[in-house]
Amino acid sequence: MPPKKKPVVTILVPMYNEELVLPLLFDELNRVTGGIKDCDFVYLFVDDGSKDASVSIVKNYASQDSRVRYLALSRNFGKEKALLAGFDHVDSDAVIVIDADLQDPPELIPEMIALWKQGYQDVYAKRINRRGETWLKKVTSTMYYRLLQTTTRIEIQPDTGDFRLLDRACIDALKQFRETERNTKALFSWIGFRKYAIEYDRAPRAAGKTKFNYFRLFNLAIDGLTSFTTTPLRVAGVLGFLVSLIAFIYLLQVIIKNIIYGPDVSGYPSTMATILFLGGVQLMSLGIIGEYIGKIFNETKNRPTYLVGENNLNTEPARGSRK
Ligand code: UDP
Ligand code: MG
Repeated sequence: MPPKKKPVVTILVPMYNEELVLPLLFDELNRVTGGIKDCDFVYLFVDDGSKDASVSIVKNYASQDSRVRYLALSRNFGKEKALLAGFDHVDSDAVIVIDADLQDPPELIPEMIALWKQGYQDVYAKRINRRGETWLKKVTSTMYYRLLQTTTRIEIQPDTGDFRLLDRACIDALKQFRETERNTKALFSWIGFRKYAIEYDRAPRAAGKTKFNYFRLFNLAIDGLTSFTTTPLRVAGVLGFLVSLIAFIYLLQVIIKNIIYGPDVSGYPSTMATILFLGGVQLMSLGIIGEYIGKIFNETKNRPTYLVGENNLNTEPARGSRK
């Protein structure tokens, strides 16, 4: 009988201006994968339009190590699309998504692979602490998860990032989602499959600085909500109904008062308050509807989600790979 082929696992690293940490990451990955004998590994670095030396560093690794693949996008598309580009170009049995900055500890990789071999298809890392992150970021992220979870029927995994092992089945599923404004975290929940959480302590960044400021996070949060649930639209409707109901009761009261006590000219403050309040509710509802219309507009343009620049993906496939 021929010896059974070893499964191939791709380590997928999205990177954007990570020249400072890449050498550390590469060493760590080599150390960890060196200890795993029952799998073959491929490293796929997806460069998301870095302006520093990240790509040339990776090219240098590729020239020394045949397991190293790189795929450079034509500009910065954002991590979500960099991940999609990665999923589109892997042909291995599983993928491990890991940040370049070593905030996702590679030491968890052996455990992830062991769980995958037990039949779990989405082994994700759940952080029990978020060192190096500000108080405001922690609070806003907790609130966001609560909001997302209460507005949708799909179970959302809180405190998880993109650090996870995905089985081929999950990757094939994720590739079918071609929406341009992606929220990968929500999609991981959406697809389902057999999930398993490993808990870990999230370390601060090894070097370099975060690419996500509050503005970017806010946008990501709005995208996450509006691409995942239509509840805000309903909220706008319900709010409108409630306000009209209150206004109607108030109107009845004004009429009755008028009949009993005669006309009353005072009431300027209440008129102003009502007008301003209603104006606010209307603007907010329009804004919510606008968010969704914007989404429709962006999707109907049907643009490619990302464009690929330089890459070395046509080189000899890895040992044991499917092609
Ligand atoms: N990243 C990316 N494209 C971007 C921004 C970030 O590919 O536009 C990568 C980045 O290089 C890193 C990962 O996404 O590998 C997570 O980014 P970061 O550490 O800045 O985010 P944080 O950990 O602060 O949420
Ligand atoms: Mg980070």
